[in-house]
Amino acid sequence: MEFSDRLDRIPPYLFAEVDRRIAEKKASGVDVISFGVGDPDVPTPGKIVEVLRAASLDPANHQYPSYYGLEEFRGAAAAWVERRFGVRFDPGTEVISLMGSKEGVAHIALALLDPGDIALVPEPSYPVYAMGTLLAGAESHFLPLTSENGFLPDLGSVPKDVAKRAKVLWINYPNNPTGAVAPRELFAEAVEFAARNGLVLAHDNAYSEITYDSYTAPSLFEFEGAREVGIEFHSLSKTFNMTGWRIGFACGNPDVIGALGTIKTNIDSGVFNPVQLAAVEALENGGDTVGRMVDIYTRRRDLLVRELSGLGWDVTPPKGSIYIWMPVPDGFDSVGFSTHVLDRAGVFFTPGNAYGPSGEGYVRLSMTVPDERILEAVSRLKEVF
Ligand SMILES: *Cc1c(COP(=O)(O)O)cnc(C)c1O
Repeated sequence: MEFSDRLDRIPPYLFAEVDRRIAEKKASGVDVISFGVGDPDVPTPGKIVEVLRAASLDPANHQYPSYYGLEEFRGAAAAWVERRFGVRFDPGTEVISLMGSKEGVAHIALALLDPGDIALVPEPSYPVYAMGTLLAGAESHFLPLTSENGFLPDLGSVPKDVAKRAKVLWINYPNNPTGAVAPRELFAEAVEFAARNGLVLAHDNAYSEITYDSYTAPSLFEFEGAREVGIEFHSLSKTFNMTGWRIGFACGNPDVIGALGTIKTNIDSGVFNPVQLAAVEALENGGDTVGRMVDIYTRRRDLLVRELSGLGWDVTPPKGSIYIWMPVPDGFDSVGFSTHVLDRAGVFFTPGNAYGPSGEGYVRLSMTVPDERILEAVSRLKEVF
Protein backbone atom coordinates (compact mmCIF):
# COMPACT_ATOMS: atom_id res chain seq x y z
CA MET A 1 0.00 0.00 0.00
CA GLU A 2 1.11 3.55 -0.63
CA PHE A 3 -0.14 6.56 1.26
CA SER A 4 -0.09 10.23 0.38
CA ASP A 5 2.91 12.50 0.82
CA ARG A 6 0.54 14.64 2.85
CA LEU A 7 0.28 11.89 5.44
CA ASP A 8 4.07 11.71 5.69
CA ARG A 9 4.20 15.44 6.37
CA ILE A 10 2.11 15.09 9.53
CA PRO A 11 4.70 15.27 12.31
CA PRO A 12 4.94 12.47 14.85
CA TYR A 13 2.36 12.81 17.58
CA LEU A 14 4.17 14.61 20.39
CA PHE A 15 1.99 13.07 23.04
CA ALA A 16 2.62 9.50 21.86
CA GLU A 17 5.51 8.92 24.28
CA VAL A 18 3.69 10.71 27.09
CA ASP A 19 0.47 8.78 26.45
CA ARG A 20 2.44 5.56 26.58
CA ARG A 21 3.89 6.55 29.96
CA ILE A 22 0.50 7.50 31.40
CA ALA A 23 -0.96 4.19 30.20
CA GLU A 24 2.02 2.36 31.71
CA LYS A 25 1.57 4.14 35.05
CA LYS A 26 -2.13 3.33 35.13
CA ALA A 27 -1.43 -0.29 34.22
CA SER A 28 1.02 -0.53 37.12
CA GLY A 29 -1.77 0.60 39.45
CA VAL A 30 -0.93 4.32 39.81
CA ASP A 31 -4.03 6.49 40.19
CA VAL A 32 -2.89 9.17 37.72
CA ILE A 33 -4.38 12.65 38.21
CA SER A 34 -4.29 14.24 34.77
CA PHE A 35 -4.28 17.98 34.15
CA GLY A 36 -3.77 17.13 30.49
CA VAL A 37 -6.83 17.28 28.28
CA GLY A 38 -8.96 20.44 28.08
CA ASP A 39 -12.23 18.59 28.43
CA PRO A 40 -14.73 19.88 31.04
CA ASP A 41 -15.36 17.34 33.83
CA VAL A 42 -18.82 18.74 34.68
CA PRO A 43 -21.67 17.19 32.65
CA THR A 44 -23.85 19.03 30.12
CA PRO A 45 -26.85 20.63 31.91
CA GLY A 46 -29.88 18.33 32.11
CA LYS A 47 -32.23 20.70 30.25
CA ILE A 48 -29.98 20.62 27.20
CA VAL A 49 -29.84 16.80 27.29
CA GLU A 50 -33.63 16.73 27.64
CA VAL A 51 -34.12 18.73 24.43
CA LEU A 52 -31.94 16.24 22.56
CA ARG A 53 -33.89 13.31 23.99
CA ALA A 54 -37.25 14.73 22.94
CA ALA A 55 -36.06 15.85 19.49
CA SER A 56 -34.48 12.49 18.76
CA LEU A 57 -37.95 10.86 18.93
CA ASP A 58 -39.23 12.87 15.95
CA PRO A 59 -38.70 10.89 12.71
CA ALA A 60 -38.31 14.16 10.76
CA ASN A 61 -35.02 14.55 12.60
CA HIS A 62 -33.79 11.15 11.41
CA GLN A 63 -33.21 12.42 7.88
CA TYR A 64 -30.28 14.43 6.55
CA PRO A 65 -29.94 17.81 8.25
CA SER A 66 -29.42 20.95 6.14
CA TYR A 67 -25.84 21.65 5.08
CA TYR A 68 -25.52 25.11 6.55
CA GLY A 69 -27.44 24.38 9.73
CA LEU A 70 -31.08 24.59 10.86
CA GLU A 71 -32.60 28.06 10.57
CA GLU A 72 -33.44 27.86 14.28
CA PHE A 73 -29.83 27.13 15.16
CA ARG A 74 -28.31 29.80 12.95
CA GLY A 75 -30.91 32.27 14.21
CA ALA A 76 -30.15 31.43 17.84
CA ALA A 77 -26.40 31.73 17.16
CA ALA A 78 -26.87 35.15 15.54
CA ALA A 79 -29.12 36.29 18.40
CA TRP A 80 -26.57 35.10 20.97
CA VAL A 81 -23.75 36.95 19.18
CA GLU A 82 -25.88 40.08 19.05
CA ARG A 83 -26.86 39.90 22.75
CA ARG A 84 -23.34 39.15 23.83
CA PHE A 85 -21.24 41.40 21.56
CA GLY A 86 -23.72 43.89 20.12
CA VAL A 87 -22.99 42.90 16.52
CA ARG A 88 -25.62 41.65 14.09
CA PHE A 89 -25.23 38.91 11.48
CA ASP A 90 -27.64 37.63 8.85
CA PRO A 91 -28.27 34.00 9.86
CA GLY A 92 -28.91 33.17 6.20
CA THR A 93 -25.54 34.21 4.78
CA GLU A 94 -23.21 35.13 7.63
CA VAL A 95 -23.56 32.18 10.03
CA ILE A 96 -22.76 28.48 9.46
CA SER A 97 -23.10 25.46 11.75
CA LEU A 98 -20.00 23.37 12.44
CA MET A 99 -19.46 19.85 13.74
CA GLY A 100 -17.50 21.43 16.57
CA SER A 101 -15.39 24.47 15.80
CA LYS A 102 -12.32 22.24 15.23
CA GLU A 103 -13.97 20.97 12.07
CA GLY A 104 -14.41 24.49 10.70
CA VAL A 105 -10.94 25.58 11.77
CA ALA A 106 -9.45 22.63 9.87
CA HIS A 107 -11.65 22.85 6.78
CA ILE A 108 -11.35 26.58 6.16
CA ALA A 109 -7.74 25.93 5.15
CA LEU A 110 -9.10 24.11 2.08
CA ALA A 111 -11.11 27.20 1.15
CA LEU A 112 -8.24 29.67 1.58
CA LEU A 113 -4.92 27.96 0.90
CA ASP A 114 -3.18 26.40 -2.10
CA PRO A 115 0.29 24.85 -2.22
CA GLY A 116 2.80 27.70 -2.05
CA ASP A 117 0.52 29.85 0.10
CA ILE A 118 1.27 30.80 3.67
CA ALA A 119 -0.82 30.91 6.84
CA LEU A 120 0.34 33.14 9.69
CA VAL A 121 0.04 30.97 12.78
CA PRO A 122 0.90 31.83 16.39
CA GLU A 123 2.87 29.30 18.41
CA PRO A 124 2.47 27.79 20.92
CA SER A 125 -1.10 27.23 19.76
CA TYR A 126 -4.02 24.90 19.31
CA PRO A 127 -2.47 22.47 16.78
CA VAL A 128 -5.31 22.60 14.24
CA TYR A 129 -4.32 25.95 12.64
CA ALA A 130 -0.98 24.54 11.49
CA MET A 131 -2.36 21.06 10.73
CA GLY A 132 -5.18 22.40 8.57
CA THR A 133 -2.59 24.47 6.72
CA LEU A 134 -0.39 21.43 6.22
CA LEU A 135 -3.28 19.26 4.98
CA ALA A 136 -4.09 21.98 2.42
CA GLY A 137 -0.50 21.68 1.14
CA ALA A 138 0.40 25.18 2.33
CA GLU A 139 2.99 26.41 4.83
CA SER A 140 2.75 28.02 8.26
CA HIS A 141 4.81 31.07 9.11
CA PHE A 142 4.93 30.93 12.90
CA LEU A 143 4.57 33.94 15.17
CA PRO A 144 6.09 33.17 18.59
CA LEU A 145 4.04 33.96 21.69
CA THR A 146 6.37 34.58 24.61
CA SER A 147 6.15 36.14 28.05
CA GLU A 148 8.29 39.01 26.66
CA ASN A 149 5.64 39.92 24.06
CA GLY A 150 2.73 39.29 26.43
CA PHE A 151 1.81 36.20 24.37
CA LEU A 152 0.74 38.47 21.49
CA PRO A 153 1.90 38.02 17.87
CA ASP A 154 4.36 40.62 16.60
CA LEU A 155 2.75 41.45 13.27
CA GLY A 156 5.54 43.94 12.53
CA SER A 157 7.95 41.00 12.40
CA VAL A 158 6.27 39.41 9.36
CA PRO A 159 8.58 39.90 6.32
CA LYS A 160 6.98 41.67 3.35
CA ASP A 161 7.35 38.70 0.98
CA VAL A 162 5.76 36.40 3.58
CA ALA A 163 2.86 38.81 4.12
CA LYS A 164 2.36 38.89 0.36
CA ARG A 165 2.05 35.07 0.10
CA ALA A 166 -0.08 34.83 3.27
CA LYS A 167 -3.81 34.16 2.85
CA VAL A 168 -4.87 33.97 6.47
CA LEU A 169 -3.83 35.22 9.90
CA TRP A 170 -4.94 33.15 12.91
CA ILE A 171 -5.51 34.64 16.35
CA ASN A 172 -7.06 33.08 19.48
CA TYR A 173 -7.92 35.10 22.61
CA PRO A 174 -8.57 34.13 25.36
CA ASN A 175 -5.67 31.91 24.34
CA ASN A 176 -5.05 28.19 24.50
CA PRO A 177 -2.48 27.19 25.81
CA THR A 178 -1.15 30.40 27.42
CA GLY A 179 -4.35 31.63 29.12
CA ALA A 180 -3.50 35.12 27.82
CA VAL A 181 -6.10 37.67 26.80
CA ALA A 182 -5.44 40.37 24.20
CA PRO A 183 -5.77 44.13 24.62
CA ARG A 184 -8.29 45.74 22.28
CA GLU A 185 -5.41 47.27 20.28
CA LEU A 186 -4.29 43.80 19.16
CA PHE A 187 -7.64 43.12 17.47
CA ALA A 188 -7.63 46.53 15.80
CA GLU A 189 -4.05 46.01 14.63
CA ALA A 190 -4.86 42.53 13.27
CA VAL A 191 -7.85 43.87 11.31
CA GLU A 192 -5.70 46.64 9.85
CA PHE A 193 -2.92 44.13 8.99
CA ALA A 194 -5.40 41.81 7.26
CA ALA A 195 -6.95 44.66 5.25
CA ARG A 196 -3.57 46.05 4.21
CA ASN A 197 -2.27 42.65 3.10
CA GLY A 198 -5.50 41.37 1.56
CA LEU A 199 -5.79 38.32 3.78
CA VAL A 200 -8.49 36.70 5.90
CA LEU A 201 -8.38 37.25 9.65
CA ALA A 202 -9.60 34.13 11.47
CA HIS A 203 -10.35 34.48 15.17
CA ASP A 204 -10.84 31.33 17.23
CA ASN A 205 -13.04 32.55 20.10
CA ALA A 206 -13.59 29.18 21.82
CA TYR A 207 -13.04 30.68 25.29
CA SER A 208 -14.97 33.94 24.92
CA GLU A 209 -17.20 33.12 27.91
CA ILE A 210 -14.54 31.75 30.24
CA THR A 211 -12.83 34.80 31.69
CA TYR A 212 -11.93 35.97 35.19
CA ASP A 213 -11.59 39.00 37.41
CA SER A 214 -14.34 40.96 35.62
CA TYR A 215 -12.52 40.79 32.27
CA THR A 216 -14.96 40.37 29.35
CA ALA A 217 -13.61 39.04 26.05
CA PRO A 218 -14.61 40.86 22.86
CA SER A 219 -15.67 39.58 19.47
CA LEU A 220 -13.47 40.40 16.52
CA PHE A 221 -16.48 42.14 15.02
CA GLU A 222 -16.51 44.86 17.66
CA PHE A 223 -13.63 46.35 15.65
CA GLU A 224 -14.04 48.56 12.65
CA GLY A 225 -13.35 46.91 9.32
CA ALA A 226 -13.52 43.36 10.72
CA ARG A 227 -16.53 42.42 8.59
CA GLU A 228 -14.52 43.09 5.44
CA VAL A 229 -11.81 40.56 6.36
CA GLY A 230 -12.96 38.39 9.24
CA ILE A 231 -14.40 35.08 10.31
CA GLU A 232 -14.89 34.09 13.94
CA PHE A 233 -15.20 30.55 15.26
CA HIS A 234 -17.44 29.87 18.24
CA SER A 235 -17.74 26.64 20.14
CA LEU A 236 -20.36 25.37 22.56
CA SER A 237 -17.86 22.84 23.89
CA LYS A 238 -16.18 24.71 26.71
CA THR A 239 -18.95 27.28 27.23
CA PHE A 240 -21.72 24.77 27.97
CA ASN A 241 -19.72 21.61 28.78
CA MET A 242 -20.66 20.07 25.42
CA THR A 243 -17.34 18.78 24.06
CA GLY A 244 -18.80 15.40 23.13
CA TRP A 245 -21.74 16.82 21.19
CA ARG A 246 -19.69 18.28 18.33
CA ILE A 247 -21.45 21.57 17.72
CA GLY A 248 -20.14 25.05 17.04
CA PHE A 249 -20.56 27.80 14.49
CA ALA A 250 -18.71 30.45 12.55
CA CYS A 251 -19.91 33.94 11.73
CA GLY A 252 -18.45 36.72 9.66
CA ASN A 253 -17.83 37.92 6.15
CA PRO A 254 -20.43 36.25 3.88
CA ASP A 255 -17.87 35.41 1.16
CA VAL A 256 -15.65 33.62 3.66
CA ILE A 257 -18.62 31.84 5.27
CA GLY A 258 -19.82 30.85 1.78
CA ALA A 259 -16.38 29.50 0.82
CA LEU A 260 -16.24 27.38 3.97
CA GLY A 261 -19.79 26.22 3.21
CA THR A 262 -18.77 25.08 -0.28
CA ILE A 263 -15.96 22.92 1.12
CA LYS A 264 -18.19 21.48 3.85
CA THR A 265 -21.06 20.71 1.48
CA ASN A 266 -18.69 18.34 -0.31
CA ILE A 267 -17.38 16.66 2.83
CA ASP A 268 -20.07 16.45 5.54
CA SER A 269 -23.82 16.64 5.61
CA GLY A 270 -24.42 18.85 8.60
CA VAL A 271 -25.08 18.34 12.31
CA PHE A 272 -27.82 15.96 13.65
CA ASN A 273 -30.88 18.20 14.12
CA PRO A 274 -31.50 17.23 17.78
CA VAL A 275 -27.94 18.32 18.60
CA GLN A 276 -28.62 21.67 16.93
CA LEU A 277 -31.91 22.04 18.83
CA ALA A 278 -30.15 21.23 22.10
CA ALA A 279 -27.58 23.89 21.18
CA VAL A 280 -30.43 26.39 20.67
CA GLU A 281 -31.51 25.66 24.25
CA ALA A 282 -27.92 26.23 25.44
CA LEU A 283 -27.55 29.52 23.54
CA GLU A 284 -30.95 30.83 24.65
CA ASN A 285 -31.05 29.68 28.27
CA GLY A 286 -27.56 28.49 29.21
CA GLY A 287 -26.35 31.73 30.77
CA ASP A 288 -26.41 30.48 34.36
CA THR A 289 -24.39 27.39 33.40
CA VAL A 290 -21.66 29.69 32.13
CA GLY A 291 -21.70 31.74 35.33
CA ARG A 292 -21.55 28.58 37.45
CA MET A 293 -18.63 27.18 35.43
CA VAL A 294 -16.68 30.42 35.65
CA ASP A 295 -17.16 30.31 39.45
CA ILE A 296 -15.88 26.73 39.52
CA TYR A 297 -12.83 27.49 37.36
CA THR A 298 -12.08 30.64 39.37
CA ARG A 299 -12.04 28.60 42.58
CA ARG A 300 -9.78 25.95 41.05
CA ARG A 301 -7.51 28.59 39.53
CA ASP A 302 -7.06 30.38 42.84
CA LEU A 303 -6.49 27.09 44.65
CA LEU A 304 -3.85 25.96 42.13
CA VAL A 305 -2.13 29.35 42.03
CA ARG A 306 -1.94 29.48 45.83
CA GLU A 307 -0.70 25.91 46.29
CA LEU A 308 1.75 25.81 43.37
CA SER A 309 3.19 29.20 44.34
CA GLY A 310 3.65 27.68 47.79
CA LEU A 311 6.00 25.13 46.19
CA GLY A 312 8.10 28.03 44.94
CA TRP A 313 6.79 27.81 41.38
CA ASP A 314 6.14 30.90 39.28
CA VAL A 315 2.39 30.77 38.55
CA THR A 316 0.42 33.62 36.99
CA PRO A 317 -3.38 33.41 37.29
CA PRO A 318 -4.86 33.39 33.77
CA LYS A 319 -7.44 36.04 32.79
CA GLY A 320 -9.19 33.62 30.48
CA SER A 321 -9.43 30.01 29.21
CA ILE A 322 -9.34 26.89 31.38
CA TYR A 323 -5.54 26.66 31.47
CA ILE A 324 -2.63 27.62 33.66
CA TRP A 325 0.57 28.15 31.66
CA MET A 326 3.42 27.67 34.08
CA PRO A 327 7.19 28.02 33.57
CA VAL A 328 8.92 24.82 34.70
CA PRO A 329 11.24 25.06 37.72
CA ASP A 330 14.97 25.65 37.11
CA GLY A 331 16.89 22.62 35.97
CA PHE A 332 14.06 21.08 33.95
CA ASP A 333 12.83 21.29 30.37
CA SER A 334 9.13 20.79 29.56
CA VAL A 335 9.24 17.05 28.92
CA GLY A 336 11.70 16.46 31.76
CA PHE A 337 9.46 18.23 34.28
CA SER A 338 6.30 16.57 33.01
CA THR A 339 7.96 13.15 33.21
CA HIS A 340 9.37 13.84 36.69
CA VAL A 341 5.96 14.91 38.03
CA LEU A 342 4.30 11.87 36.48
CA ASP A 343 6.92 9.42 37.76
CA ARG A 344 7.16 10.79 41.27
CA ALA A 345 3.66 12.08 41.99
CA GLY A 346 1.40 10.32 39.48
CA VAL A 347 0.28 13.77 38.32
CA PHE A 348 0.25 14.75 34.66
CA PHE A 349 0.97 18.24 33.24
CA THR A 350 1.21 18.66 29.44
CA PRO A 351 4.69 19.65 28.22
CA GLY A 352 4.42 23.14 26.70
CA ASN A 353 6.52 22.33 23.63
CA ALA A 354 3.69 20.07 22.44
CA TYR A 355 2.04 23.33 21.29
CA GLY A 356 5.08 24.74 19.49
CA PRO A 357 8.78 25.41 20.10
CA SER A 358 8.12 28.62 22.05
CA GLY A 359 6.21 26.48 24.56
CA GLU A 360 9.53 24.93 25.64
CA GLY A 361 10.11 25.76 29.28
CA TYR A 362 6.41 25.61 30.19
CA VAL A 363 3.76 23.09 31.14
CA ARG A 364 0.00 23.50 30.64
CA LEU A 365 -2.43 22.59 33.41
CA SER A 366 -6.06 22.16 32.46
CA MET A 367 -8.41 23.13 35.30
CA THR A 368 -10.90 20.42 34.36
CA VAL A 369 -10.10 18.44 37.50
CA PRO A 370 -12.51 18.33 40.48
CA ASP A 371 -11.41 20.23 43.61
CA GLU A 372 -10.77 17.13 45.72
CA ARG A 373 -8.52 15.67 43.02
CA ILE A 374 -6.66 18.99 42.82
CA LEU A 375 -6.10 18.81 46.58
CA GLU A 376 -4.89 15.21 46.29
CA ALA A 377 -2.49 16.20 43.47
CA VAL A 378 -1.19 19.12 45.54
CA SER A 379 -0.53 16.94 48.56
CA ARG A 380 1.38 14.43 46.40
CA LEU A 381 3.42 17.26 44.81
CA LYS A 382 4.26 18.61 48.28
CA GLU A 383 5.79 15.24 49.17
CA VAL A 384 8.04 15.32 46.10
CA PHE A 385 9.11 18.99 45.98
C1 LIG B 1 -11.32 23.23 22.51
C2 LIG B 1 -10.87 24.17 21.46
C3 LIG B 1 -11.51 24.24 20.21
C4 LIG B 1 -12.44 23.18 19.69
O1 LIG B 1 -13.62 23.11 20.13
P1 LIG B 1 -14.73 22.18 19.48
O2 LIG B 1 -15.83 23.13 19.24
O3 LIG B 1 -14.98 21.15 20.52
O4 LIG B 1 -14.21 21.57 18.21
C5 LIG B 1 -11.13 25.21 19.31
N1 LIG B 1 -10.15 26.05 19.59
C6 LIG B 1 -9.49 26.01 20.75
C7 LIG B 1 -8.42 26.99 21.00
C8 LIG B 1 -9.82 25.06 21.72
O5 LIG B 1 -9.12 25.00 22.84
